Amino acid sequence: MERARRYHRPLYRIRLAEMALGLLVPLALVLAQVDDELSPAWWLEVLVLTALVVAATALARLPLAVWRFRHERAWGFSTQTVRSWIADRLKALAIGVVLTGVAFVGLVGAARAFPRWWPLIAAVAAAALVALLTFVAPVLLEPVFNRFRPLDDKRLADELRALADRAGVPIRDVLVADASRRTTKSNAYVSGLGRTRRVVLWDTLLERAGEPELKTVVAHELGHRRFQHVAVGTLLAMAGAAGAVLLLWALADDPGDPGIVPFAVFLFTALELASVPFLAVLSRRFERAADRFSLDLTGNPEAYERLHAELARENMADLDPPRAFHLALHSHPTPDERIAAGRAWKRKGAVPV
Ligand SMILES: [Zn+2]
Repeated sequence: MERARRYHRPLYRIRLAEMALGLLVPLALVLAQVDDELSPAWWLEVLVLTALVVAATALARLPLAVWRFRHERAWGFSTQTVRSWIADRLKALAIGVVLTGVAFVGLVGAARAFPRWWPLIAAVAAAALVALLTFVAPVLLEPVFNRFRPLDDKRLADELRALADRAGVPIRDVLVADASRRTTKSNAYVSGLGRTRRVVLWDTLLERAGEPELKTVVAHELGHRRFQHVAVGTLLAMAGAAGAVLLLWALADDPGDPGIVPFAVFLFTALELASVPFLAVLSRRFERAADRFSLDLTGNPEAYERLHAELARENMADLDPPRAFHLALHSHPTPDERIAAGRAWKRKGAVPV
């Protein structure tokens, strides 16, 4: 616990500083009024301004990112070379510039083409873009950073498929991501919608966890699918994106002016930050539901407890995070909260499904 505290406390400060910079850099660009005739065509000016805001924010955060990378290496978690780390940053920056740029060309373009109806059109388009991104992310964005392969242990793959059938959420494949090229930490997740839905295990987890623990992990991820957590999260994000556009409509003088971009980024980032504590509460609720589901499905509270204890040790989880920080920002309950829930489940003698 003492080591985890020394590892995590500076990371909490870094996270807060990153959030603050995400707000302060666009604000500085609003105040500097960098909108005067940077380029002849309005859409080019939108793209230039978007690239400027996104790149300036990344640049301001760079010292923090370097510090974080050195911290992860010093604690033995990062397995990345400097070169591969730089490639990651550049890829993320390029994706950020392109996606934000396209979104803002659409927004400003709608305001220019439909001065009366643009808020409605842009709100619907923003919600549609969020849904589209969730749908394509597993096949277009995630492969930019990781390679995925089907689980090659046929027997284990069959068992996990049988588990998914019993859970009522059949899956084609459990995919394995080459997380070990960046970190020694272990994890698993679900992503995608409809045809792109998938359960992904990090290769680090696959290598170290025993079979009962792996089944518990997969059962947890199946719980997320069974309860449609990705779909619910996507719907919320869609509503948030549409609401953000409507708020911009209420606040902006001339949304058809490319100079709106820094203010819009500032506004959207502020709304995103304001939503984080609510999403953290919702996410922890989802995690508790998925944990309960994993216990119901496997009926193996011993494997559940071993899994969460091992994950906490391997990832050096903070068992005692600052309370306010945890409640406002953390997406998962702490490991001891999860283990306590498993023991409570066992005491109640819940019947496996
Ligand atoms: Zn989860």
